[in-house]
Amino acid sequence: MSKTIHLYLFKSEKHLAPFLKKKRIEGKKIGFVPTMGALHRGHISLIEKAKDECEIVVCSIFVNPTQFNNAKDLEKYPRTIEHDMEMLLKADCSVLYLPASQEIYPEGKPELKNYDLGYYDKVLEAAFRPGHFQGVANVVYRLMKKVNPAVLYLGQKDFQQIQVIRKMIELENFQTKIEVCEIVRELSGLAMSSRNVRLNEEAWNNAAVISQTLFFLKEKRNEFSSVKALREEGIKRLKKIPDSIVEYLEICDAETLRPVEIIVKGKLTIILTAIWINGVRLIDNILIENKLT
Ligand code: AMP
Repeated sequence: MSKTIHLYLFKSEKHLAPFLKKKRIEGKKIGFVPTMGALHRGHISLIEKAKDECEIVVCSIFVNPTQFNNAKDLEKYPRTIEHDMEMLLKADCSVLYLPASQEIYPEGKPELKNYDLGYYDKVLEAAFRPGHFQGVANVVYRLMKKVNPAVLYLGQKDFQQIQVIRKMIELENFQTKIEVCEIVRELSGLAMSSRNVRLNEEAWNNAAVISQTLFFLKEKRNEFSSVKALREEGIKRLKKIPDSIVEYLEICDAETLRPVEIIVKGKLTIILTAIWINGVRLIDNILIENKLT
């Protein structure tokens, strides 16, 4: 007998909150996957992990204006809601929360909280996208207040974002646990991203060099005389990509995100990069020395 699949759609907290409250009273565990839509297999991997561990999986789709430091980027961000709903149905996700902007920012032009995110708000993504992480911390806070999940599922793809959200959760005293999911890649190695649809065929092919470079650096790290030489080799390879601008490639302690001078065996270390290819900004990273648990 085929199973009937439901996807509950809520556009407002007014209906979402009592629905989730009832589930919580019934003892159901709620997992939450916040997204900006234009869903791909990377997002679905988070839904699947959540489904393995929770009876109720809430996915939100909200293109958050406060995390875009570039108005053009916000305008061009892909929006594919019908396709997204089909993917969520296929993945057997329980709830789609699809708030309008007034629901998240009822005060209109939002008065954002200013979180003390320390070093995480100064380097890497933060250095190139001023205000980005305050926007992320604020929107995830507002979404979490509405969903109140037991577990929050986040992708390693946005590694710095995980540290930022971890910090916000600590500052706001949420009891929510964070689960980190591995990066899902195309066959070429390109990390899946909603922004990939904006790459033309040539740029899409060239973008495979990003992950190839990261894999190379991980594999050959012990053959270089220093971390500095390893980093320079990575930047050299990325700069060869046609029509590209390399913003950064850094080798960091995975917890503090401070650059390391030596790679210590067994100490979780990460190589992170951001690069523009053909006018599209892409990020990727690779963990070395240890898997994230
Ligand atoms: P976004 O819609 O880009 O805000 O992403 C929503 C969530 O999906 C974030 O936790 C991302 O880290 C995660 N995510 C995005 N791309 C991937 C991917 N290729 N593999 C795994 N998770 C991803």
